[in-house]
Amino acid sequence: MTETIEIPETDAPNSFAELMLAPELLRAVEDAGYTTPTPIQARAIPLILNGRDIMGLAQTGTGKTAAFTLPIVQRLLGGPRRARALILTPTRELAVQVKESFARYAIHSGLEIAVVYGGVPLGPQETALRGGVDVIVATPGRLLDHMERQNVAFDDLEVLVLDEADRMLDMGFAPQLNRIVADIPKYRQTLL
Ligand code: AMP
Repeated sequence: MTETIEIPETDAPNSFAELMLAPELLRAVEDAGYTTPTPIQARAIPLILNGRDIMGLAQTGTGKTAAFTLPIVQRLLGGPRRARALILTPTRELAVQVKESFARYAIHSGLEIAVVYGGVPLGPQETALRGGVDVIVATPGRLLDHMERQNVAFDDLEVLVLDEADRMLDMGFAPQLNRIVADIPKYRQTLL
């Protein structure tokens, strides 16, 4: 079950170090030139690091992507190279942006990140997936194609993110989302 928690703005941490991010992440944040967490980052990062399921509501431009990307990278540090985090997005453009975010924040963390979306050949995506990845950013239809071809297995999945879940539902992706969710572990962290 997902709980909703209100955290008073005044208690929100105002540095990334206070958010208990690992040195690899603090260096990446510094490289990106960020000095202060945005409100959604200050509130969401500690909860996500604690393994909570959360639903975050924020406009674009508020630092929402880093709010889930940073703690996911931290959670995956040092683990086996298996598909352990899956981020579903409604569009190819958003998938590419989220992938770039992961690449930026994981720069000192040695994680492999793949992005898969429709409208382009399957081959290069298949090669990337079969080569072993830690994080997959995907649009739902193309991910299902890869799952059906057994290009990817989610036995080790730890975190599922539905980015812009409302838009995915508006775009009619509910059947694909249901099929994906039916095929991944039940015991996982879920972020909306
Ligand atoms: P988003 O809402 O996640 O798409 O982020 C919007 C923009 O804000 C992106 O270009 C980020 O690079 C940038 N950004 C994210 N977090 C911070 C931060 N704490 N300080 C300054 N810029 C940030």
